[in-house]
Amino acid sequence: MQNDHRIERRGLLRTGLVMGGMLAATASGSTTALAQSAGRTASDERPATPDQAWARLREGNRRWVAGTSTHPHQDAARRAEVAQKQDPFAVVFSCIDSRVAPEFVFDTGLGDLFVLRTAGQTIDPLVTGSAEYGPAELGTPLVVVLGHQRCGAVTAAAESLHDHKKLPGELDTITSSLRSAYKRSGGDVDKMIRINTVDVVNQLKKDKLFAPRIAKRQLKVIGAYYSIDSGEVTRLV
Ligand SMILES: [Zn+2]
Repeated sequence: MQNDHRIERRGLLRTGLVMGGMLAATASGSTTALAQSAGRTASDERPATPDQAWARLREGNRRWVAGTSTHPHQDAARRAEVAQKQDPFAVVFSCIDSRVAPEFVFDTGLGDLFVLRTAGQTIDPLVTGSAEYGPAELGTPLVVVLGHQRCGAVTAAAESLHDHKKLPGELDTITSSLRSAYKRSGGDVDKMIRINTVDVVNQLKKDKLFAPRIAKRQLKVIGAYYSIDSGEVTRLV
């Protein structure tokens, strides 16, 4: 039932892609005659599998690293195309850090990603519910947990735990969430960032809604690390 809906929706999306595809073809000048006659480019096809989705994110990240971002899906045509329905191809769960904006890092645009962001990409049931929405309701095939270099949240938590000094307000909740990663990191903040990222991936893989989809290869949950210096995303797990 849900699949039928999805196919219908894709049909509608393709119709809507005509204008965006023509614009992209004109701009890039590198699309094939076939794609032009269909009124869309190969890169407009929404990735349908976890591996296709990851490949799309990697391509976008390569452009970001090289300084050749194309800023796809950021025009009025795209806004109109996704105004009634959305069908993002990935969920990206990253830190609130102002230097780690997923749409920039993966060179994507409107309607491409569900984005969740918390300090140090720490997780709780409320955040998990938001992560579940895409895969469970719309069949989003990929979840990426993205840790990053020089994470201020993880650094502050490490200092708080090291000095036995509680952070004020709810900031201490973030520290508590990172305690286990801290213990296994030996105090090395970069190691702690990577351990925490993998921990969150493992937690999400066990999620009641995710596990059966992962078993059926409809969904992958992967962990990655973002270098603030180079812009490069490296897969961890
Ligand atoms: Zn951070």
